[in-house]
Amino acid sequence: MKEKVIYWLTGSQTLYGADVLEHVAQHSKEMADYVSEKMPVTVKYLTTCKSSDEVVEAIKKVNADDNCIGIITWCHTFSPAKMWIKGLHMLQKPMCHFATQYNEKLPYDAIDMDFMNENQAAHGDREFGYIVARLRMDNKVIAGYWKDEATLARIASWCRVAAGVAFSKNVKVARFSDNMRDVAVTEGDKIDTHINLGWQVDYYPVGDLVAYIDKVTEEEVDALMAEYAQKYTMGTDRIEVVREQAKYEIAIDKFCKEKGGYIGIVDHFGALQGLNQLPGLAIQDLQSKGYGFGAEGDWKVAALGAVMQYMAGQKATGLMEDYTYDMEDGLCLGAHMLEVSPQFAGSKPEIQVHPLGIGGKSDPARLVFEGIEAPEAVAVSMIDMGDRMRMIIQKIELVKYPHKMPNLPVAGLMWKYKPNFKTGIEAWIYAGGAHHTVVSAEVTFQEMVDLANAWGMETVVIDENTEINEFKKQLHFSDVIYKRG
Ligand code: MN
Repeated sequence: MKEKVIYWLTGSQTLYGADVLEHVAQHSKEMADYVSEKMPVTVKYLTTCKSSDEVVEAIKKVNADDNCIGIITWCHTFSPAKMWIKGLHMLQKPMCHFATQYNEKLPYDAIDMDFMNENQAAHGDREFGYIVARLRMDNKVIAGYWKDEATLARIASWCRVAAGVAFSKNVKVARFSDNMRDVAVTEGDKIDTHINLGWQVDYYPVGDLVAYIDKVTEEEVDALMAEYAQKYTMGTDRIEVVREQAKYEIAIDKFCKEKGGYIGIVDHFGALQGLNQLPGLAIQDLQSKGYGFGAEGDWKVAALGAVMQYMAGQKATGLMEDYTYDMEDGLCLGAHMLEVSPQFAGSKPEIQVHPLGIGGKSDPARLVFEGIEAPEAVAVSMIDMGDRMRMIIQKIELVKYPHKMPNLPVAGLMWKYKPNFKTGIEAWIYAGGAHHTVVSAEVTFQEMVDLANAWGMETVVIDENTEINEFKKQLHFSDVIYKRG
């Protein structure tokens, strides 16, 4: 991510003379360089804009630079904002307006009018903010001193979001099945997400994958088995069953790379002609390497999972499914048929082989483990409302299993809902949230809200402040605001 660049654009004007403009440029460079050190991406001072033509020139450069993922703007002095209209109107990347100031304290004893003219971010940032509001741009605004650690952490968070937006534009999902018959929530308008998020979702008959599986060599399988032995405990003596999964993994990975860089995968337990196991261990290990996965044809989860994994640096992020409750203790056990990502493992995962009651195939190998604990995690669902996508973001707390579950043959996660068990469930259901989610203990709640905002998507949040009557009212308002056509 550090190769990605955020350009820092400073606003000013020629009114104050050359000396002031020289200071403005020096300060901006110093600030951008300092901020850059603390970021997951590179922040570079680009220029000080003093006229409409200069803004247009800068934004053209921002748009054309493939490495550039967004801009930070700041007004050292007053910068008459009509000069920003034309350029901002052209901007195609996320923008963060950083409301900061070169000096942290006022020089109370020395302050005079020269100082006032040179250091008037409070004044300039407001003029800039007006025109951004007038243009209806849903940009990020962050206020705080540029060396303040908490402020820098918020900027870093926004940088991850900007990187996610850029990554999203190149996400490609390979679907080895349509979505599961009769299931509603995994449906969706693929053209809508292609236009608005950049996702390209392509179907391939599973036979195309089988042709790849047939070509996997024993040597390739040996190499991946050695990798498994390093990362996982072998809890079965049915090695041939495990080798079959290794074959699937090698074939899927090769297929995705050779067919044009797919980073999302979708399969379906009911569409496996030519495979004798449901891919379990294969999909789990692929998720640990950055692939997004959606089960039962759920391409929205595969694509969103890929984006969130990128933002998370491939940590503690992946497909999850609300499975079964402990209603007495207010807990949910999340799992799936097989495919929970080892990024969620709280201890070394074990490869096991068990029968699978659904799908009519041979016993599949899978990783079994108990999930991590995390006080702050998110569960995210994207659903098609018929005229637009809605993103539902819920705060959850990942907790330790309260009891051992020796007969549970799959990996799982256990969590508590915010604001509490009942309200958390009710709000999710009122919002239409799916059973499949992407859970992350790495991407923050605020980052997901900012990502949805950057995408211009309807955003529904469930957190410690959610109250049902107010929540339903917000859903009704939101339906009017986001209704298309
Ligand atoms: Mn499922």
